[in-house]
Amino acid sequence: MLGYVLDEVFVHHHAPGGHPERPARVEAVRDALVAAGVRERGQNVPARAVTDEELGRVHRASYLTQLEATLPGQEGWLDPDTYYSRGTWPAARAAAGSVAELAIEVMSGQLTRGLAVVRPPGHHAEADRAMGFCIFNNVAVAAAAARAAGAARVAIVDWDVHHGNGTQRIFWDDPAVAYLSVHQWPYYPGTGAPTEIGGDAARGATVNVGLPAGSGDDEYLAVFDEVLVPALLEFRPDVLLVSAGFDAYRADPLAGMRVSRAGFAAMADRLRAVADRACAGRIVVALEGGYDLDGVAGGMSEALRALTAESVPAIEEAPAKRVISAPARAAIEATLAAHAEAA
Ligand SMILES: [Zn+2]
Repeated sequence: MLGYVLDEVFVHHHAPGGHPERPARVEAVRDALVAAGVRERGQNVPARAVTDEELGRVHRASYLTQLEATLPGQEGWLDPDTYYSRGTWPAARAAAGSVAELAIEVMSGQLTRGLAVVRPPGHHAEADRAMGFCIFNNVAVAAAAARAAGAARVAIVDWDVHHGNGTQRIFWDDPAVAYLSVHQWPYYPGTGAPTEIGGDAARGATVNVGLPAGSGDDEYLAVFDEVLVPALLEFRPDVLLVSAGFDAYRADPLAGMRVSRAGFAAMADRLRAVADRACAGRIVVALEGGYDLDGVAGGMSEALRALTAESVPAIEEAPAKRVISAPARAAIEATLAAHAEAA
């Protein structure tokens, strides 16, 4: 059974002026998912506030104290990119709590899969600071919640066009949580080089593929087939979490990639197939970035389709190498070489 989170609380976080990370994003996703039959295909899971215990597993106490003193009922900026409004405190707590709840229910077997339409996004938020529109690291909180709920190993795949510096850093030395990212590189926030493979205690558990601007479906699917899927099958997670940003969409105003809706569909299918093979289907997809409304709505619709399909295409054992741009091919080789060297 798929559990999904769609809640009005996420609409009430808004910037003082115009900002690309805006309420219309979740409204567009909600409308598309409802039109796609989400209410018949899944079970609504009410948004819930994150607990202090859940936050405390990944965020510093000093940061939480600072937020509690600053955010509730107020508006302003935590950094040049990251605003808060009167609705932000409940939205941010609900975003982290809802992704954690889906992970917990997937671990307990109440749900098989989860889909979270939340904002603010999370993957740039570090243990002790907000960054890049993100306040709490929703997926990191969920990964820690899954661990507390019995998962020996958690894998996070992050296909947002930006590197998830916060998630990487939080689990840098944790061999129980793998972090795998494909992103535009070099680009904001600057991290995510192929040589970043994890700390001494967890070498190889961080996987970064930095694709050049202009990459599209073929480049992304080559990364999935040649790097991410094999790494996930080797890691054998108990649950798979997905930081699903849709700002690699070809019409996205913030980035320079050319992924189509069909590309996101194929990526979602692969992760559903990995979850089916490696972890009894347990997968939770959480919204991160994506600033073109058609891109984010279409992409999340494809995630819903992949998570609720009777079946998805099986993982090919030896997929043919795709013909991709030379810089993208070099990027894949750089990641594979960094990991081969560490092995
Ligand atoms: Zn992004």
